[in-house]
Amino acid sequence: LTQLFRPLDMLGMVYRTIRQGLIDMAAMFQLIDTEVEVRDVPGAPALVIARPTVVFDDVVFGYEPDRTILQGLSFEVPAGQQVALVGPSGAGKSTIARLLFRFYDPWSGRILIDGQDIRAVTQASLRASLGIVPQDSVLFNDTIGYNIAYGRDGASQADVEAAARGAALMDLIERLPQGFDTPVGERGLKLSGGEKQRVAIARTLVKNPPILLLDEATSALDSRTEQDILTTLHAVAEGRTSLTIAHRLSTIADADTILVLNEGRLAEQGNHAALLRKRGLYADMWARQAEAMDEAGVAAE
Ligand code: ATP
Repeated sequence: LTQLFRPLDMLGMVYRTIRQGLIDMAAMFQLIDTEVEVRDVPGAPALVIARPTVVFDDVVFGYEPDRTILQGLSFEVPAGQQVALVGPSGAGKSTIARLLFRFYDPWSGRILIDGQDIRAVTQASLRASLGIVPQDSVLFNDTIGYNIAYGRDGASQADVEAAARGAALMDLIERLPQGFDTPVGERGLKLSGGEKQRVAIARTLVKNPPILLLDEATSALDSRTEQDILTTLHAVAEGRTSLTIAHRLSTIADADTILVLNEGRLAEQGNHAALLRKRGLYADMWARQAEAMDEAGVAAE
């Protein structure tokens, strides 16, 4: 059975990690190829995390030899802090996530988790330490309970219930005639985008990883649902080390540190207030988003 689920598990991981979704099959297969290329060094130890810090140390990387995407990127996500990553489209935000999951290795520089180079430890232990809540979550054609328990082998019913509570899913589950045993997915109950994302959050809570990678939704959800989900996400991230890829600046204004990425370089970093005072790229992006929201507001009236 494990044999059967391993490819599925990998597919799930690949799917959750790349954000283009199923449409981008080419990219998906490229990731699978890459995964075969990135190998554990013989006798590699497991990653051991006492303090979940993430460090990018002068990372240079590109997908193709003649095009460098990350141009010597250095930053730190201190243990227990919430760090947000913003920047124009194509700046390299998702690339950072893919490198952290070690779907690719940097050309030069290092990525360290609690002082250990992620190239030196097993990929299984690395990925077990990282939780990802993607924008678009995939559900298996199985029960809602299975979809949550999938976060970790051997999760108990008590773990699943606690996770469902943490992801604010209990109201929904209590309304379902078969509760946790209700089939969901294509062949079962169709959940809304927001509900699916809550299942993904619950799955991550079951996994209970020390480091979280959050990929905030761009436009899949209405703003009320999005606000509710963000509240849940922020509660989940509290006390953990988290890196959030943000598309809307308003959602990350309370992050401990905001990293502003531009053309594969760290253009600015600081908290929201400090970056606004700087009147640089972040302040420009903030002003532009505020303007766009005003226009949308006027159009809606
Ligand atoms: P967005 O906000 O639009 O999602 P991003 O900041 O996440 O953008 P990345 O997806 O990291 O940007 O992409 C950075 C650059 O790398 C882009 O120019 C993109 O075209 C390129 N790129 C991404 N994936 C691949 C790939 N598999 N092969 C070749 N180039 C790629």
